[in-house]
Amino acid sequence: MRTQRQVVDYSLQKRAVLRDVHNGRVGVLEVCDASPYLKNAARFHGEPTDDRCPVCRRDNLTLVHYIYGDELKQSAGQARKLAELPVLAMTLREFQVFVVEVCQSCAWNHLTEQYMLGRDALQADELDRGEAVASSSSGRHRETGSSSHRWEGRR
Ligand SMILES: [Zn+2]
Repeated sequence: MRTQRQVVDYSLQKRAVLRDVHNGRVGVLEVCDASPYLKNAARFHGEPTDDRCPVCRRDNLTLVHYIYGDELKQSAGQARKLAELPVLAMTLREFQVFVVEVCQSCAWNHLTEQYMLGRDALQADELDRGEAVASSSSGRHRETGSSSHRWEGRR
């Protein structure tokens, strides 16, 4: 979605955790601790991926999208299907999305990224795109949210 704003990418932290698991510094049980709620959310609202679980490699990861924000009222903190997010983004001014990857086989789970969505973001994105055009002429690339430089810059 091109309306994503304030994207924070947690892949560095994830890699660090996985390194500790593979080194034996952190027990598998400590990181494969998805709650029954999270597993249910993965089953009913999750977005399947083609990525193998980095811990057990038995199952593909599922992405769960949690939404937060004052405008959501009692829906805040709920998991939503990815397809529902653009609809919410049209109707709400601003809300936050937390994306958690879950393995339904071994219960590995980790926050992968967070971002803002909403009508406010849409307007801000118009401005941002103007800026992107200006900075692309200087050779800077700012389209992807996965670059670690960008993540460090955002903190
Ligand atoms: Zn697994």
